[in-house]
Amino acid sequence: MPHPKIQNALSRWTHEHWFLAGVFSVVGTMVIAIAPGMANAMREPATVSQQENVLLTLPEAREPQSADAGSGWHYVLVKKGQTLTHVFKELNLPLKAMRQMMVVPGARKDMSKIGPGKELAFELNAKGELMTLAFDRDEGTRIELSLEDGKAKENIIQREVDQEVAIASGIIKKSFSYDAKQAGLTTSSINKLADVFKYDIDFVEDLNDGDTFHVVYEDQWREGQRMRNGAVLAARIVTRGKTYTAYRFTHNGEAQYFDQNGNPLKKVLMRIPIEFARLSSTFGMRNHPVLGRMRMHKGVDYAARAGTPIMAAGDGRVGFVGWKNGYGRAIVIDHGQGRSTLYGHMSAFGKYKMGQHVNQGVTIGYVGMSGLATGPHLHYEFMINHQQVNPLKVTMPKPLPLSGTQLASFKASIAPSIAKMDSMERGLQFAKR
Ligand SMILES: [Zn+2]
Repeated sequence: MPHPKIQNALSRWTHEHWFLAGVFSVVGTMVIAIAPGMANAMREPATVSQQENVLLTLPEAREPQSADAGSGWHYVLVKKGQTLTHVFKELNLPLKAMRQMMVVPGARKDMSKIGPGKELAFELNAKGELMTLAFDRDEGTRIELSLEDGKAKENIIQREVDQEVAIASGIIKKSFSYDAKQAGLTTSSINKLADVFKYDIDFVEDLNDGDTFHVVYEDQWREGQRMRNGAVLAARIVTRGKTYTAYRFTHNGEAQYFDQNGNPLKKVLMRIPIEFARLSSTFGMRNHPVLGRMRMHKGVDYAARAGTPIMAAGDGRVGFVGWKNGYGRAIVIDHGQGRSTLYGHMSAFGKYKMGQHVNQGVTIGYVGMSGLATGPHLHYEFMINHQQVNPLKVTMPKPLPLSGTQLASFKASIAPSIAKMDSMERGLQFAKR
């Protein structure tokens, strides 16, 4: 049996894993003693699992003095806190071999970057000596370092990643997620779409039989294998005679979604920064539940189970995080243009510190009853120029649309997607007849 330490160091690395290295992190403690390079022959999942059953353990070490890992290929996932040196030590491989490989110009840099999550393949000869070390520098480049008589040689293999723009279209017959999957979208793309349209469409409630959808997305392939759905570039959904569109465009260094006219789909601020909550106290004069006297209630309260996540209502900077007398544990987010929001009575804070930027929707804390509160709830204030207003009544600011040269380049960038979707739509309409 293999040395227990080594069995820990070695991780399962199937052909699928080898292929998808960098896409999924592979965690496991089993070893498959199969040679790489043969991946093309083994794409069928059934074949892979068969291999797994047959080759769960390492071959026995042939001679007591040979390295514990035995000859052949061994796959290692670099664990948290590990460097290449640790892996060599765990495999009982001499560090000298590592240094000999590092002599190769360029290899040193690649090897020094090896850290947790990286997948490595070691080829050992019958004497247990290291012959080859292989790993992916990035998705498109595999590095193979071979050692012969103490001399290292580097072989750089370019693995082409092809990106193509694909379109998935369909008429909803069963449900959006079912029909979108039939059309070729992955679950992650479907979730992404639901997120992009969340201000306008409820994908479960609103979509009906006969509604149509078109999704233009990046599809990434490597060596004939689909790696993943990339970004959703454009989407059009027609429901109840209304058309909703979303186009991806990089604005201020961030990929965002806009409608056909360049209006952001994202709203500046969410009206209610919490889910699964009940409005328990409105804005205005009220008899204070703890103080027992009439007092202005400068926010709205949402009763919710203690520990319910509280979201940042909009993008902004954390202006305050800490204890704020009656508010208990509170956070203030400055959204710019004179607007800020306050969240009180939290049981705990999220990971955001004073001065840090937060994106809309991230969890900034959890419902509690710190400060002056009779039960767990979120006290939420919305301020314009430091003056509290009723968040349920205020007209929410509209995000700025694209304009000028930005709008022009946006329009140019979305034209091919529009043409694709138009053409698919004609096909669908034809099919409907
Ligand atoms: Zn309150």
